[in-house]
Amino acid sequence: MAKNLLGYTLAKLTEEFVGLGQSKFRAKQVFGWIYGKKIFDFDAMTDISKEFREVLKRGYCIALPKIHTRQDSSDGTTKLLVEMEDGAKVETVLMPYNYGDAICISSQVGCNMGCAFCASGLLKKERNLEVYELMGQVLLMNELLAPLGRHVTHIDVMGTGEPFDNYDNVIDFIKIANDPFALAIGARHITVSTCGLCPGIIKYGKEGIQINLALSLHAPNDKLRQEIMPVAKAYPFDKLIPALQEYSRDSGRRLTFEYIMLRDFNDTPECADELIHFIRDNELFAYVNLIPYNEVKEKPYRRSEKSRVRAFADRLLKAGVNCTVRKEFGGDIDAACGQLRSKQVGGRK
Ligand code: SAH
Repeated sequence: MAKNLLGYTLAKLTEEFVGLGQSKFRAKQVFGWIYGKKIFDFDAMTDISKEFREVLKRGYCIALPKIHTRQDSSDGTTKLLVEMEDGAKVETVLMPYNYGDAICISSQVGCNMGCAFCASGLLKKERNLEVYELMGQVLLMNELLAPLGRHVTHIDVMGTGEPFDNYDNVIDFIKIANDPFALAIGARHITVSTCGLCPGIIKYGKEGIQINLALSLHAPNDKLRQEIMPVAKAYPFDKLIPALQEYSRDSGRRLTFEYIMLRDFNDTPECADELIHFIRDNELFAYVNLIPYNEVKEKPYRRSEKSRVRAFADRLLKAGVNCTVRKEFGGDIDAACGQLRSKQVGGRK
């Protein structure tokens, strides 16, 4: 099978081409065609010798996944169900902010983390996404944005799947996204969200790239967290806290805690106080992003009332804990993580 060049970091492509007897410079040239000029046809790469173009045509390809379903929200959000060569389908979402276009990509086909409130886990993990499939989601969205004179400026690895359960591919993808010869998206514009796989958190802190880390906390203590997140049993707070502290020491970066507001479950003033203590007592360098819950039909959880969310946020702010409430997108489409996919894929099983 042809190897998809969208799966190569510049370092790996250089190594590959040098192995084929080419000069070190060749990989940079090809990167320029793909990411700079958006040319995917080897024949059009005119500064590359005819002989080497033939070699490329025989063994390699530059191919994007397909759009299976597209939903456009009145607020500018676009949600795609993206279909890979083998028929696997994943969700990709574009959210237009005033500061740029943020894409939320999936890291796996399905998810095994089993969070009780999440639609993604309704369908178990089938496989990891390859690097070229992660990149394909971004380039596909760029193709849709190009006629509008826009392109993806921010990347969140926050869609279906657990990025640290597909660690190496996610890191290679980020390297390409961040590479000045490829997408040139600043590390601070890239965020990876994990449910809390501690070995991944520690490793990520040592990568030496200034990418952001978001941790799906969702509860201020082990008891509540374990009720909704099975991962909290494998990695309870006494493992998670040292991992987060090590990450902060190594990376020097501020963490984001994601906290879904679930009615009468984790949205009380007592929970807010516990969360304040959790952050302060453990000296965690973090801010809290409160997330309005997107209700999922198959799940028993309900979203917190707006006034509850506001009161929770105010309590944190008053205590000196930085906190924002996430802007909501796509209210009129299947916006919740995994909703579109579980409808389309699950419905036919
Ligand atoms: N596995 C990773 C990334 C995918 S989930 C993680 O757990 O962080 C991305 C974020 O969306 C997580 O914070 C997750 O808890 C949250 N999420 C899942 N379902 C949601 C829903 N229905 N409404 C709002 N947020 C949801």
